[in-house]
This record gives sequence, C-alpha cells and structure tokens, in this order.
Amino acid sequence: MIQVAINGYGTIGKRVADAVRAQPDMEVLGVAKTRPNFEAETAIDKGFPLYAAIEEREHLFEEAGLDIAGSVDELVADADVVVDATPSGIGAENKSLYEEYETPALYQGGEDADLVGVSFNARSNFEDAAEADHVRVVSCNTTGLSRVIAPLREEYGVEKVRATLVRRGGDPGQTSRGPINDILPNPVTIPSHHGPDVETIFDDLDIDTLGMKVPATLMHMHSLNVTLEEEVDAADVRELFADESRLFLIPEHMAIDGSGKLKEYALDAGRPRGDVWENAIWEESISTVGRDLYLFQGIHQESDVVPENIDAIRAVLGAADAEESIETTDETLGIGL
Ligand code: NAD
Repeated sequence: MIQVAINGYGTIGKRVADAVRAQPDMEVLGVAKTRPNFEAETAIDKGFPLYAAIEEREHLFEEAGLDIAGSVDELVADADVVVDATPSGIGAENKSLYEEYETPALYQGGEDADLVGVSFNARSNFEDAAEADHVRVVSCNTTGLSRVIAPLREEYGVEKVRATLVRRGGDPGQTSRGPINDILPNPVTIPSHHGPDVETIFDDLDIDTLGMKVPATLMHMHSLNVTLEEEVDAADVRELFADESRLFLIPEHMAIDGSGKLKEYALDAGRPRGDVWENAIWEESISTVGRDLYLFQGIHQESDVVPENIDAIRAVLGAADAEESIETTDETLGIGL
C-alpha cells in the first residue's frame, strides 16, 4: 500500500484525501493542517490522522479538543509520497522539508513550473513523472485545456490554440474573493499566463489565452478555438472526445444550460460535494469551420485536478502505467457521467 501524506487540507487537499482512500493501492497516512477549523473537524470525523503543519500552533488543536497525531515532519518522514495542497507559494517553501526526508512530492498548479522537474497531466505526459521526485499537477484550467488538446494533437495535429477563460471569481468557500458585480479582464494583459502553463505540458504547442473574472463561484467556462492541421467534421471530433473518459459531452436533451445545472446534475448523481471531475463540453457547441474547431467547456476548478493527483502519485512512484492508473482512478471515483 502506498502511504500518502497530504499537507494542506483545504479545497484540493480534502478531495485528494477522499480520492486516495478510495484507491485499492493507497492509504492516507495523515493530513496536516495549520488550524483547527471545520475542515480539521471533518478530517477527524473521517478518521484521517491529523498532524500539525506548524509546530507552534499545536496547542490550538489541543485547545479545540482535536487530537494531533504528530508533527508534519513525522508525517513526511513516514510517507512514501506527499501531496502538497497548500496555498500558492507555500508549496515552494515546503520543498526543503520534503527533500530533507527524501520523500517524493506533488505540488499544485499555484506553484511555479520551475519549482519542479515535471509538470503533469495524466492524459498527456504520465510517463515523464517517473523521472522526477518533485512533480507539479497543473492548474484546473491547464488540466482542462490539456485533456482536450492531447487527443486533438494525436488525431489531427494542432496548428494553433486560442482560448478565452471566463474564470470564477472565487470558490464557494472563498468569502473574501470577487468581483461581486463586475466583469474583469484578468489578467488584463494579453496573452494571459495560462498559455505558457499549457506549454509546460506540450512544449511545442502554439497557444494564446485570454483571461476574465466574473461574479460566479461554481465553475470556469472556456471558449476554445483550435486550428487543426486538417479539415475535420464536427461529428468526428465528438466521436473522438466521446472515447476520452475525462471528457463529458453534455447531450442536448439534458437541457443543461450552464454551470448551475451542471453542478445540480452532479449533486443529483450523488457525486461527493457535487464534484465534476471531467471537462464538461457542450456537445452542440462542438463545431468546425474549415480547419477551425470551436467549443465551450465547463471546468470545475475544485475537483478536476483530483484524479490527476491520484495518477501523479502512481506515476512518480512508478506504481502503474498511464492506462492502468487512469482506469483504476476512473473506476474507483466513478468518473464518466
Ligand atoms: P485552500 O486555501 O482551500 O487550502 C489550502 C489549505 O492549506 C488550507 O487548509 C490552509 O489552512 C492550509 N495551509 C496554509 N499554510 C499551510 C502550511 N504551511 N502547511 C500546511 N497547510 C497549510 O487552497 P486550495 O484551493 O486547496 O489550493 C491549494 C493549491 O491548489 C494551490 O496551489 C492552488 O493554486 C491549487 N489549485 C486550486 C484550485 C481551486 O480552484 N481551488 C484548483 C486547482 C489548483
């Protein structure tokens, strides 16, 4: 059994912990937190050993009546791999801790690409992670773009990608984020940083991205234009995507008109936290004009990277090949709406 430590038990960390627990070849050795908030309570309720991420704050947990299993150093020392799911920039600060105990580590998309040897997307470059001890699972947006670009490159060749990312202002729990009544070009400079991030997965890709932020919390929405190397029928692209387990094509009859109904559907389907692990592509939006392909896709920022973290654990430890890992992850989580 692969012993997994999770450092940072917030939006991403708590989902990764649940997903690790669902795997036949992994278990959660423990989760590290900085403070005894509601997520710490949940970790205890779920039976995850709770570790203090910052030693000087250990007393806060005791005062709140929460049992601490030990320090983050002990957790890292005993683990086969650490998933660092701390806020942007903290992962970089934690790297020396993981190096000290020679524990391979995964970081999240908020960290810089040059922190690690390899940036990771299971569908696109699983094998590359075997050569690195420090791997970055790319951001929710980069994951969403990579999953679409990989099959298009393999099947038709991609000349150029242009994507406009309409981004949620904050996650539902992020009460201090915004805007609450505006539409922001964000970043206002063009192209945005998202394109270069996708190039950490496909280094020879020509991609330009534009970003916006809107008063929404549920999901991001991508408007995508891909110039292919050959003329293709939209029906063929739909068929290609239908074979990809982490692309969900929303059929017209479902009458899902936006991210609200999509989340509602995920909740109705019994998904934990209403998570949508797949890219949700509006099937009718898949259109071609000559060599240009267009589509809209919803990206659930809180969850699409979760299966990718699970695959990255196996990839970095050489515990399975891409096909085997993706299949196991998909099956255990119930991916494929
Ligand atoms: P979050 O704020 O919800 O959770 C981070 C957790 O880490 C919190 O519980 C926080 O208390 C804890 N923490 C803070 N400092 C710590 C430390 N020194 N040691 C241990 N724990 C510490 O953040 P998140 O949304 O889960 O984001 C985590 C990472 O995932 C970031 O790199 C982010 O960019 C990336 N990411 C976030 C999303 C998203 O939409 N939320 C999507 C994809 C990737």
